[in-house]
Amino acid sequence: MSLRDVGFFLRGRLNRAVSRALNRRAPAHTETPTPLNDVLSGPRTPIALSRLLTARDNAAREAAVASWLGARGVPFTRHRFATFEGRGDNYVVDLGAGERTLVLIAHHDAVPGSPGANDNAASVAILLTLLERLGAAPPSRLRVRLLFPACEELGYLGARAYVRDASLDRIAGVLSLELCGMGDTLAIWDAGAETPFLRTVRGALESVGRRADESYHVVGRIPVFGSDHRAFAAAGIPAYGLTVVPAAEADEREQRAHRDVEHPDAALAAQEALHRGAEGQPDEAARPRGEEEERAERRRLRDGAAALGAQKRAGGAGAHEPRLRIDPLKDGRTREAYRIA
Ligand SMILES: [Zn+2]
Repeated sequence: MSLRDVGFFLRGRLNRAVSRALNRRAPAHTETPTPLNDVLSGPRTPIALSRLLTARDNAAREAAVASWLGARGVPFTRHRFATFEGRGDNYVVDLGAGERTLVLIAHHDAVPGSPGANDNAASVAILLTLLERLGAAPPSRLRVRLLFPACEELGYLGARAYVRDASLDRIAGVLSLELCGMGDTLAIWDAGAETPFLRTVRGALESVGRRADESYHVVGRIPVFGSDHRAFAAAGIPAYGLTVVPAAEADEREQRAHRDVEHPDAALAAQEALHRGAEGQPDEAARPRGEEEERAERRRLRDGAAALGAQKRAGGAGAHEPRLRIDPLKDGRTREAYRIA
């Protein structure tokens, strides 16, 4: 066990403790999971597939991913790990063939007590949808590796175990999808320095009509906000987080209209463009989210964005620093709106 492992472990524990404290008065979620067979025989869209994991406990989430891959006949590798911090199964699916590998990550575990819809069932669903599309037309000059780690909420334990055990040769870059179920504006984060991979990511986003500092933002570290890609970054591999943030004007009516609606298509289109770019070149459904989870996620985003704002005011802004602004909207309840301005 390295000093770094201890650091990850403590940070994971701290994050969970903070989440619990912030949400101690929130009611536990009362969502019922969708029967697994209904999901397996249902539509293969991000919205439908987000029900594969939502509202299940972590053991059931882990099993559900394997069930889906098995039912679809997708060859996958199960990477099982057990350390003093915890145990779990990471799943790995490789698509396409080529010298270099693009790694896309979506962790399958959730904070206990949360339905784990936006964090992170939506991202898993996006990658499963991408899997279907790439499976039908695999890239010929790039390997796309979909990694579904366990135990992200324990200081990226699953991803760290994977990085420890797997061959990391020829990885072009890594993106970890987090909180991709709501919103319309993409944030690439933990992207402090320009790299060839970051340029590829930008090019991919712009190829689907996204504009820097408008419909996508590239930002540096967001305090108290991390994800699995950091396990790869610690090994010297270009690795960033990808999150979707609601950027619409948050008037009351807009809020009410979109409160329970998810738009995972933005992130899916970006992933598809990314693999195309790296190779060389919403639908909606009303689904109530657990308010506890929603609040915790928005707090994390708000805190991170506020810290970024403070950094910027302190004069630390670089060429691609974000212009994040938080517009809290009080409507008599606890909802808040976020805006990238
Ligand atoms: Zn997460």
